[in-house]
Amino acid sequence: MKQSPPENNIIGITSTIPVEVIYAAGFTPVDINNIFIGADEPDLLVTRSESAGFPGNICAWIKGIYSTALEHGIRRIIAVTGGDCSNTLALSEIMGMKGIEIIPFDYPLNCSRVHVEQKIDDFRKALGTSWADIKREKERLDRIRKKLKVIDQLTFIENVVTGYENHLFLVSASDFKSDPDRFEKEIDTFLDEAKGRQALKADIRLGVLGVPPIFSDFYQFIESLGTRVVFNEVQRQFSMPYVTNDIAEQYTLYTYPYGSAPRIRDIAEAIEERRLDGLIHYTQTFCFRQLYDMVFRQRLNIPILTIEGDRPGEIDRRTALRIEAFVEMIKGTV
Ligand code: SF4
Repeated sequence: MKQSPPENNIIGITSTIPVEVIYAAGFTPVDINNIFIGADEPDLLVTRSESAGFPGNICAWIKGIYSTALEHGIRRIIAVTGGDCSNTLALSEIMGMKGIEIIPFDYPLNCSRVHVEQKIDDFRKALGTSWADIKREKERLDRIRKKLKVIDQLTFIENVVTGYENHLFLVSASDFKSDPDRFEKEIDTFLDEAKGRQALKADIRLGVLGVPPIFSDFYQFIESLGTRVVFNEVQRQFSMPYVTNDIAEQYTLYTYPYGSAPRIRDIAEAIEERRLDGLIHYTQTFCFRQLYDMVFRQRLNIPILTIEGDRPGEIDRRTALRIEAFVEMIKGTV
């Protein structure tokens, strides 16, 4: 049955999903992760969820999402029940108990086009939109995705965009900041300014793997050590930099939901193309995705530093020392 966009037409999302479908249906997507981490006091949002009963050994992003959704009065959420987070199902049930409407979407187990298309069609029917409207939204968002790709190229080819700026723009492709036209203007302004910059110089070129870091000064600290972050693996995936004919192909090429194999291929290409000297694998405390660290270490032939973040805030001293030692180690080899 068609969901009619009501007076409050916001749909909260907690992961990258076929956002074209949401826009085509006349809803406005809001990535709750980005509101949470951009809040004045994100740690307070985590603490509020703990006061509400969330256990200490649950990932801080989950707790942040819960409090943020309640604080912002979000009444409808897409729960990604496959291919994203092992906590989503339980979180969505808890949110349902608060009266939030839960709309499921799941990625298939493997990235076969036929299965992806079926999942998107189920989602399309749930939101009550047409393939023609989705195609129109894809064309609009593809124009912006191309510009995000230029930002990425300015990061690793022209060396005029910092790793932090790269992160901020690409991570915003999950919901296009809830207003694609305004986001596109912001990108245009940034591109005009960045193209006139002097190239940044650094001895070491790094890539960052894993879920977006919860640390507030992650990129600034790493790049203060004479390095450049020229690859943000997951954020780049959010931006979907591939040229595709339709939305099913687009979400089949998206690597993040489908286990390690597509990610390894993508990262291996980036190591070559971007001439990376090392990788920092960011992992989140209490996240099942930490297990992928074993796979990355076996499959990728490059120095890898694994770090772990727990709550929002600045990098702790121990993690900072480990990053410094890693950078010094690489400096000794290049
Ligand atoms: S960091 Fe891991 S556990 Fe936390 S929300 Fe993301 S996928 Fe889930």
